[in-house]
Amino acid sequence: MDIVFKCGQCKQELEVDAAAAGQQITCPSCNQVISIPAPEASNIRMSASASSSNASIREEKHFAVPVSERPVEPLIKKPLPPLDASAKDGPRQMRIKTLRHSDCKEVGHDNFDKMATELVQGIGEEYIVSINTFTYTFIDIGTQKLITDFGILIVFKG
Ligand SMILES: [Zn+2]
Repeated sequence: MDIVFKCGQCKQELEVDAAAAGQQITCPSCNQVISIPAPEASNIRMSASASSSNASIREEKHFAVPVSERPVEPLIKKPLPPLDASAKDGPRQMRIKTLRHSDCKEVGHDNFDKMATELVQGIGEEYIVSINTFTYTFIDIGTQKLITDFGILIVFKG
C-alpha cells in the first residue's frame, strides 16, 4: 500500500510506502525536508492492483521515494564544543584546591587516594603547578578529641 501526496514545498506528487507514514524525507524534486502524511482513504493506493487497472488514468509520473532506516538528522545541529575551552575563556588563572583527608573518610572506607587521584586527573597533569602537603588539627565531634590529620593543596591553572 502506498501513500500518494504532494510535496508541500514544490507540489510534486510523491509516492511512498505507507509504512513510512509520519517520517521525514527529502523531496527528490526540490530537496526540502517534508513529512509523509498519515494514510487516509483519499491518499492511499494499493500498489499492485491499482497500478494495473488505473494505469490509463494516471499518466503523470510519480516519484518513488526511498525511505532510509536511519533517523532523520536534525536540521539544526548543536554547535560543536570548542577544541580548546581555554581559548574561549581567556588564559587560565592560577587556582588552589585543597583536599583534606578527614573529608574523604566514610565509615570503614578511606577514599583519600581515590579522590585525590580523580582530582589531579580531572585537572590534568599539564595544568598542575605543584602539590603540597599540609597537616591540620580539628576537634572530632564524636570523641571531642583533638585530631591531627593531613591533606594536600594543589596549585593549578584552570
Ligand atoms: Zn518538493
